[in-house]
Amino acid sequence: MWGQLRQALDVARTIELRLDWLSDDAEIAKFLALLRAGRTTRTARATFIATCRRREAGGKFGGTIAKQLVHLAEAITAGCAWYDLEIESSSKCPPELLDVLLGEGRQIASAHFFQRRPKNLRRVAADLAHVQPAVIKIAAQCDSLAESMDVLRVARGRKNVIAIPMGEVALPARVLALREGSALAYAPVENATAPGQATLEAMKHLYRADALRRKTRVYGVIGDPIRHSLSPVMQNTGFQARKMDAVFLPFLVRDLRDFLRAIRPFGISGFSVTIPHKQSILRHLDDCDPMAAAIGAVNTVVVRGAGKLYGYNTDYVGVLRALERRIPLRGSRALIFGAGGAARAVAFALAESGASVCICARRMAQAKALARAVEGEAVERPRLRREFFDAIINATPVGMYPHSANSPLSAAELNCRLVFDSIYRPRTTKLLQLAGRRGIETVSGVEMFVAQGTAQWEIWTGERAPEAAMRRAVLHALRNEEKIAVR
Ligand code: NAP
Repeated sequence: MWGQLRQALDVARTIELRLDWLSDDAEIAKFLALLRAGRTTRTARATFIATCRRREAGGKFGGTIAKQLVHLAEAITAGCAWYDLEIESSSKCPPELLDVLLGEGRQIASAHFFQRRPKNLRRVAADLAHVQPAVIKIAAQCDSLAESMDVLRVARGRKNVIAIPMGEVALPARVLALREGSALAYAPVENATAPGQATLEAMKHLYRADALRRKTRVYGVIGDPIRHSLSPVMQNTGFQARKMDAVFLPFLVRDLRDFLRAIRPFGISGFSVTIPHKQSILRHLDDCDPMAAAIGAVNTVVVRGAGKLYGYNTDYVGVLRALERRIPLRGSRALIFGAGGAARAVAFALAESGASVCICARRMAQAKALARAVEGEAVERPRLRREFFDAIINATPVGMYPHSANSPLSAAELNCRLVFDSIYRPRTTKLLQLAGRRGIETVSGVEMFVAQGTAQWEIWTGERAPEAAMRRAVLHALRNEEKIAVR
C-alpha cells in the first residue's frame, strides 16, 4: 500500500487511503505510523482521505463501528485532512460523538448502491446532507448509459458532491465525471475497489479525465465486448499528438437504443462501431456512404448538426492502404478466405481497385453470394493447392488470440506472392509464420487496423492523422499484451 501511495503521488493530488484493504488492526496502525513518520514535502502537498469501509457497506473492514471510528481518528492524527464515513455507520453514531472523535477532519458522507441504482437519487443526496458533512458522495451501480448519466446529474451545478457511476457500462461516465461537476473521480493504482474503474494511469494519461471541459469533443467506440479494444489508445494518441481538445472513450453497448439515446447527453461527435453492431447500426442512420451501404456494414459514424447520423466503412479504406503499398492491385488475382463482414469489406475494396477477386469459405453458398456481389469467383477449397494467387487474405477469426496455434490455411495452400492476415492479435499469426517460412511476403492485420483507424480520425477531424504516433501506440499496447500473455 505504501508502494502504491508513492506511485499515486506522482500522478494525483488527492489520495484515498483504503485502510479496510489492510489485513488487520495491527497493519492499519503500522501503516498510519509510517504515514505520520514519513511525511515529506511530497506527502505534505497531497490531500489524504481516510476510508475504513465496513463489510456491511461493501468494504473489507470486519471490526465494529467503534473500531472504525478509532482508525479514522488515528488517520486524521497521521495527516489525513478528510475521512469518508458511509451512511450505514454514520446513521448509528450520535453527531456529538463524531464531532469529538473526528472533528479535526472534514467529512465525506457516502452512500453506495452495489446492486442497483436507487430511483430517487436526489432523496439520497438530501439524506446524506442531513448530517451536514463537507461533501456528499453517491456511488451507484448502473446497467445502462442512461443510468450512468442520471448518477452524474446529481453533481451538476452543485459544489461538494461526488458522483460515481459504477459498473462496466459506466466507464465513460466515470471519465467524464469531473467535467460534469463531480468534486472527485476515483481511479485505482492497481486493484480496482469498485466495478468499472479505469486505472489511474488510464484516467490521467489515456483519457486525461482531469483536463476535460464542456467544450471537449467526445468520440468513442461501441461494441460488446469492448474492454480489449485498442481504438481508445490509437485515437486518443492521435488527439494528443495534434493537441486537440477531444477524448475517445470505450462504450460497452449491449442495447443500441441505449447508446443512441446517450449521444446527446454525452455530447458525442462521432463513433467507431465494432462487433456486434456493424450491420445493425445501418437502420439507425440518417444517411450512409454508398460504399458502406454496398458492403452492408458501417464502422464509422459522424454525428452531424441536430444529431443526424452519417455512416462510413473505413475497413474498406484500411484494406486498400495496407495492401496497395505492397502490390499493384489492378490486374492482380486475390483470394479471400472467409465470407463474413471483414471479407465483404476486403472484397469490395479489391474489386473496386481492379483486382480479380476469388472467395473461398467453409460454406460455399456464402462464398458464392459474396463472389456474385463483386463479380468475382467462388473457389472450392481443394483448388487452393493447385492454383496461384498474387495475394491471399485471411478474413476469418481462425488463429486469433488465444487460439494463436491455429492457421486457417496449410502451408501447401499458400501459393502466392503475398499473405495478408486481417487478424492483429497476435501481430504475427501462425498463418503469417507459415507464409514467412515459405519466403512469401506478409502483411499483418495491424496495418489494416491502423489504416482504418486513421481514416476514421480524418473523417471526424477533417485533418491529416498523425499516423506514425498512432501506429506506435497500437504496437506498444500489443507488445505489452503479448508480454503479459507469455508470463
Ligand atoms: P464474421 O462476420 O463473423 O465472419 C467470419 C468469417 O469467418 C465467416 O465467413 C465464417 O464462416 C468464417 N469462419 C469462422 N470460423 C471459421 C473456421 N473455423 N474455419 C473457416 N471459416 C471460419 O467476422 P468478421 O467481422 O468478418 O471478422 C473476421 C476477422 O477479421 C476477425 O478476426 C477480425 O479480427 C478481423 N478484422 C480485422 C480488422 C482490422 O482492422 N485488422 C477489421 C475487421 C475485422 P461462417 O459464416 O461459416 O461462420
